[in-house]
Amino acid sequence: MSTDFPAVAGSDCDVLIVGGGLVGSALAAALADTEVRTVLVEARDPAVLEQPSFDSRVTALARGSQRILSGLGVWDALAPDAEPILSIHVSERGRFGAARIRADEEGVPALGFTLENRSLGRALWERIAAAERCTVVAPASMTRFTSDEDGVTAEIRMSPNGARAIGPSPASLTVRAKLLVAADGAESPVREALGIAMREDQYRQQAVIVNCATDLPHRGAAFERFTTRGPLAMLPLTRDRVGVVWTLPTDEAGAVAALPDDKFRVALEDVFGRRLGRVVRVGRRALHPLRRVRSGSLGTERVVLIGNAAVSLHPVAGQGFNLALRDVAALAEIVAESARDGWPDPAAVASRYRTWRVGDQRRVAWFTHGLVGLFGRPGAAWGTGRGLGLVAFDLLPGAKAALARHTMGVTGRLPRLARGLPLR
Ligand SMILES: Cc1cc2nc3c(=O)[nH]c(=O)nc-3n(C[C@H](O)[C@H](O)[C@H](O)COP(=O)(O)OP(=O)(O)OC[C@H]3O[C@@H](n4cnc5c(N)ncnc54)[C@H](O)[C@@H]3O)c2cc1C
Repeated sequence: MSTDFPAVAGSDCDVLIVGGGLVGSALAAALADTEVRTVLVEARDPAVLEQPSFDSRVTALARGSQRILSGLGVWDALAPDAEPILSIHVSERGRFGAARIRADEEGVPALGFTLENRSLGRALWERIAAAERCTVVAPASMTRFTSDEDGVTAEIRMSPNGARAIGPSPASLTVRAKLLVAADGAESPVREALGIAMREDQYRQQAVIVNCATDLPHRGAAFERFTTRGPLAMLPLTRDRVGVVWTLPTDEAGAVAALPDDKFRVALEDVFGRRLGRVVRVGRRALHPLRRVRSGSLGTERVVLIGNAAVSLHPVAGQGFNLALRDVAALAEIVAESARDGWPDPAAVASRYRTWRVGDQRRVAWFTHGLVGLFGRPGAAWGTGRGLGLVAFDLLPGAKAALARHTMGVTGRLPRLARGLPLR
């Protein structure tokens, strides 16, 4: 990685990535071993790893995502912090019926893995730091950009506390790129500047995030429990910990998060039950407001949207980052191919990406939103139907196998990195 800003000023690169959260940094890592010259601009100081992505949250990774992270060269660094998911148990509070998917029944060693976002972020940034053709400009913000037939010109303003600079750093610089990738989050200033409409669904819910310890071992089990107030996920973590994502109506979430530890433990046990025994320790709580954001399009001729900038989802099915990693793998594949051929038509890169990824994004957004809606409906008839559905699902091997493959992220047209193959 180079942080020599004057060397970047006014010069050309192939791909300018705006946003170094989990998704932007994953794309920079994916391109690290290719001939693509990349500039990554991140508004926050990577030294403190406090990007929205890099907090105490836990991410459930599908098996397909593990393959992609291996292809990015970061899995070896992540493996000690990754907990295998050996079973998934879905139930509804106060109703009969439960659905279970087990790794051994699916003939795989693990259905997926959990990792703390902090570990993921650190491994990705270390990978980028070792990349010769990636220049990181941070902390700095892209303030405006224009595109023409030959590419994109971006203005980047350095943060006044630009401690990352080596040597004299200018207050601002200009970067020319063949392609601009907006990995700038759900608010996406790039999407807004392009005038691309976004569709938003407010769930009026917040997720209370906390890591805790229980007195029975989790044995690799992940639990998703639907309640009338919102879904509760208990994810297995390393060192006998459990990662909790507890969704509650906005007006309740703050009060629950602020409960003293002993009262919070009781409230959690009340909703989850005693499948893991008693909750014996709880960590610091964090709150995340939940909404679905879908971009009206995935970009223009010279600009591509990925990650939360393209689609931001409810965490109920743990799909957001898994989906984004498939975007990253597909885009890296198309970009690397174009660079190898001498960039014959950069606009075709953006259009191939849009055509390839739009279907998967729509399907996952629809599935996730549907799940929130299905389990959010009040009424006894709906509840009985869901209970029967869960029982039937547990007894139907075909349905289980289909969902298991979906959960593992191994369906549809998969990019090379998701198939365990290197970029060509
Ligand atoms: C509670 C919760 C639980 C979740 N659990 C899971 C899970 O189990 N599995 C899963 O797959 N997904 C999960 N997700 C989804 C996952 O967290 C997101 O998909 C992922 O964080 C998206 O990252 P991003 O990089 O696209 O966006 P962000 O994290 O928002 O990053 C955007 C970055 O862009 C930078 N930026 C913005 N504008 C500029 C600019 N002009 N110049 C420079 N930099 C800029 C910002 O500083 C920021 O660092 C969960 C989400 C939530 C809320």
